[in-house]
Amino acid sequence: MDIQTSFLDLLFESGLLIDTGVDGLYGRSAQFEDVIAAFERLIDRFGGADGAEVIRFPSGMNRAFFETSGYMKSFPQLAGTVHSFCGNELDHMSLLKCMEVGEDWTKDQEATDIVLTPAACYPLYPTVAKRGPLPEGGALFDLQSYCFRHEPSKDPARQQLFRMREYVCMGTDKHVTDFRQSWMDRVAEMMKAVGLEVTIDVANDPFFGRAGKMLANNQRDQKLKFELLIPITSTAKPTACMSFNYHQDAFGAKWGLNLEDGSVAHTACVGFGLERIALALLHHHGLDTVDWPESVRKALWG
Ligand code: ATP
Ligand code: ZN
Ligand code: MG
Repeated sequence: MDIQTSFLDLLFESGLLIDTGVDGLYGRSAQFEDVIAAFERLIDRFGGADGAEVIRFPSGMNRAFFETSGYMKSFPQLAGTVHSFCGNELDHMSLLKCMEVGEDWTKDQEATDIVLTPAACYPLYPTVAKRGPLPEGGALFDLQSYCFRHEPSKDPARQQLFRMREYVCMGTDKHVTDFRQSWMDRVAEMMKAVGLEVTIDVANDPFFGRAGKMLANNQRDQKLKFELLIPITSTAKPTACMSFNYHQDAFGAKWGLNLEDGSVAHTACVGFGLERIALALLHHHGLDTVDWPESVRKALWG
């Protein structure tokens, strides 16, 4: 048994995570949720004064927006679409027959207008573009959503449905890169308050296929993505618990996000992987939050 399996087993035994029979799909206990709620309040304390507009989208997004986003070009392996039965009574009978004899009953399901949200910020760009040019000084948003990624794993830090809290900034090149840097500076203090040792390193997204290698290299060379790393199941390979992403004007151009002077907006987003942060805390301080160091409990629960 590898170490990852055993941490997952401990989480199941303690009841913090609840097995559903599918790798990466778990229920959460009250105590687990309490850690996430407390950490989100800590995020509010650090980011609240910036005056971000709070928006909460559900975990499904408009399929047309998803198609425009280009997600299938870069990460087809991770996407999850929502399909439904759209047939008549005859089709229904053959569906039930199929299920009865254990054949594939899903092949006649049809795509609905909904795709599972792959990252909390995806539904935001078309929503803001529809409002017209950005106000002077740019715009800042506070998002949180369950996100889906088809990457089943025994590593409890790699789930298929997990929550991402994000701040998304839109404006000039300088405005959004300053925003990104300010969060990279802040989080050191934030993580220190909860007793976690962290590092920040340049990173890349898992772009699909051979052409994806080039995209990943380019992303690294230009330092477009940084990750906050915390050891969870391995110290040699610490886990990315946050990412700091600069999209240049790629999303601005794609969605028609413009500044008041008509130029294309630049965008950046900072994402907290809430389950990963909770798991890092539980791994580091122990599986019962009652036993956590007083300073950590104070930072989280006052
Ligand atoms: P990784 O390289 O580990 O797959 P990522 O680069 O795909 O991470 P991002 O796309 O930057 O991650 O997502 C923002 C944050 O969401 C990550 O820093 C991480 O904390 C969290 N996250 C991403 N994928 C998962 C997952 N499968 N399970 C839990 N949390 C995740
Ligand atoms: Zn984002
Ligand atoms: Mg990933």
